[in-house]
Amino acid sequence: MTQPNSANVAQPSVQAENSLDRVLIFDTTLRDGEQSPGATMNVAEKLAVAKQLARLNVDIIEAGFPFASPGDFEAVQTIAAEVGTPQGPTICGLARATKGDIETAARAIAPAAKGRIHTFIATSDIHMKYKLKKSRPDVLAITEEMVGYAKSFTNDVEFSPEDAGRSEPEFLYEVLERAIAAGATTLNIPDTVGYLTPSEFGDLIRGIKANVANVDQAIISVHGHNDLGLAVANFLEAVKAGARQLECTINGIGERAGNAALEELVMALHVRRQYYNPFFGLPPESEAPLTHINTRELYKSSRLVSNMTGMFVQPNKAIVGANAFAHESGIHQDGVLKNRLTYEIMDAQMIGLNDNLIVLGKHSGRNAFRTRLSELGFELSDQNLNKAFLRFKDIADKKKEISDRDLEAIVNDEILQVAEHFKLSLVQVSCGSNAQPTATVTMRMPDGTELTDASIGTGPVDAIYRAINRIVDIEMI
Ligand SMILES: [Zn+2]
Repeated sequence: MTQPNSANVAQPSVQAENSLDRVLIFDTTLRDGEQSPGATMNVAEKLAVAKQLARLNVDIIEAGFPFASPGDFEAVQTIAAEVGTPQGPTICGLARATKGDIETAARAIAPAAKGRIHTFIATSDIHMKYKLKKSRPDVLAITEEMVGYAKSFTNDVEFSPEDAGRSEPEFLYEVLERAIAAGATTLNIPDTVGYLTPSEFGDLIRGIKANVANVDQAIISVHGHNDLGLAVANFLEAVKAGARQLECTINGIGERAGNAALEELVMALHVRRQYYNPFFGLPPESEAPLTHINTRELYKSSRLVSNMTGMFVQPNKAIVGANAFAHESGIHQDGVLKNRLTYEIMDAQMIGLNDNLIVLGKHSGRNAFRTRLSELGFELSDQNLNKAFLRFKDIADKKKEISDRDLEAIVNDEILQVAEHFKLSLVQVSCGSNAQPTATVTMRMPDGTELTDASIGTGPVDAIYRAINRIVDIEMI
């Protein structure tokens, strides 16, 4: 297969990709990532992320778990309709191996030009015994029946043996063989509990390739968690062993310690492609990209997901952290000024960071404003842009320079919020060197009534939030 250069080439069929000379990027930010504590997004926010993932050119978007809730169903269906265009990514819905889950996932992905059902069942003894209360023959029969059922809705069926990393290998091979025979085109191997080491994960994939008779009829995918900080390393080892789909999330968000970070996988495969090329049957010097990701959209994607989920990116985070391209030491700064490659293994522009950031202020025009918002991942309609621009001018009058954080706050305040349910009518704080910070707050409630309460706190801002929480009845954790 020749390597297309354009970012927007229509994808070949699943059958033609069995001997891939690149990896498919399966983004699960909207499913596994959204399961991070506190990362819940509404339908509009999920749609904004899905649109950005399409610009990033991921191959597959796992948009949610449609059976889980009506909100999840609506999000998957909306994304399938608006982002699942013929040129766009495949839209995938997750389903347990039950008829109800699969049928619901099928309805949710139906509007997509390319739709996938991802079904799963646990295959480790501990999960089968305590969670499923099923025997091995039961699990084999369910796999066969439910993969076949999913196949009756779409040709593109992914099957995951949950907790594969702790499953007995011979049994795992048997389940996988049955899943392929029943029509699964992607086999996803999860390290559900983030327990494996890179060489163990590599061996697991090699074992599957060597022992599942019909394995060449499916793409091997990997899914893993970062409990020991090994998710990305595990995936790269799996790629060397023949995995050709990586399930990952923007900023590595996800259950517990998160998933493998998309941006790290993509840039590792890009920066070190001479090392990885031979594992794809390519000559080391091949310049063909090993993913179809448009790397210049990485930074934007990171910012957008951080904004939508409220999950901050740690400053020292690889690739997209605020310090990832900052040089503090004098020797490094001097070297970088003379030649960037002295201390940089990649160009910041590759991930979409603009070297000469435009500083916005009160004289900035609408075009500069729109450009900077777009760099931050916000593509606004003309009407919303006008609204945000007015607010920007207002703030620029009071502040000399407008930071990215200010811009994100403007968009969040003006555009992304649903109808305001609570209004802050009054805030009064008292604090001092020997005084307990104390705040009194009055809020207008959604029904129009006004409530007042007061609280002490560790500082004035904390006291205000505690008083607000008392009024709106939010538990402090
Ligand atoms: Zn997971």
